[in-house]
Amino acid sequence: MKFNFLQKQTSRREMLRGSATLAGSAFLAHFLPTTRVRASAAGNAQQRPSPADLLASMRAKFNAVPMETQELADNVTTFDGPGGAVTVLNGPDGKFTVDSFVAPAWPRLKEALDDLGSAPVKYVIDTHWHFDHTDNNAHLHAAGAAVLAHENTKKRMSEPHDLPVLYRGPDGALAGLHFDPSPAEALPQQTFTDSYKLQANGETLALQHVAPAHTDSDIYIHFQKANVISMGDLFFNGMYPYIDPGTGGKITGMISAADKILSLADNDTKIVAGHGPLGNKADLTKARDMLITSRDRVQKLKSEGKSALEAVAEKPFADLDPVWGNGIINGDQWIQIVYLTL
Ligand SMILES: [Zn+2]
Repeated sequence: MKFNFLQKQTSRREMLRGSATLAGSAFLAHFLPTTRVRASAAGNAQQRPSPADLLASMRAKFNAVPMETQELADNVTTFDGPGGAVTVLNGPDGKFTVDSFVAPAWPRLKEALDDLGSAPVKYVIDTHWHFDHTDNNAHLHAAGAAVLAHENTKKRMSEPHDLPVLYRGPDGALAGLHFDPSPAEALPQQTFTDSYKLQANGETLALQHVAPAHTDSDIYIHFQKANVISMGDLFFNGMYPYIDPGTGGKITGMISAADKILSLADNDTKIVAGHGPLGNKADLTKARDMLITSRDRVQKLKSEGKSALEAVAEKPFADLDPVWGNGIINGDQWIQIVYLTL
């Protein structure tokens, strides 16, 4: 596949910057007095994008990222791009797909899957409930696949959610990111509580739920023979992660999940991140260490009685930001995410 690396880097950076703007000051807004938020929103009602527009804008930004195909093993391929990574086990028993990109990327995902061969998609496995991982469940189900996920993915997708990520437009107007319940055809048909195993195409897929981490619905998928682990958003490679305080996310859970995967991985294990490039044990170790440092520093400030905004003012991540703060989440947001999910 022809691929312009520089062009991709530029596009990805632009996309990430766009997402940062979208999520930007969101967490600040979370701490503002409600009346002030309401007044500000009401005063700018005309310019304020609707929640549906915000979500469409986020989908469009994710969809603007080019797609890169990487072969991880003889029968395991990952597509990296429009809303994270999709990993596929392919063979005569059918295709087994992990995650599904954002909705507007469906034509590209379908083409990429078709290019792998004519076997039907048997299963789509959701790593968690977020839209950039589950958006094409219904398309894949209509094509004959069963959707398999942790039981909390089905539960969270069945409910409305207002993520505590608010959008501040250039005029200062504030709005929330709202999710309606997903339609029935997008919900998982099969769920499990703790762990689940699938055997196909000479491979064993071990699916494992972890304690609340990025959300309360996360699983990782271990392709045992291929030595590949797909972590979903339990791993953002090379950037601060998002942790969802609205559906049970906990930074201690993110650290425990990283420790668990590190205990399974060897130096040859390919670790597929929910966002960011394909990783390995060394990359995940660095991310885990950054999470521990972040937790300890914010915990200290919180224990001293500082509010989230006072913690931001202390600039506790000044040394980490140049390395980790250039992705979806910037340093100021990260302090508040950690504060909210301690
Ligand atoms: Zn997510």
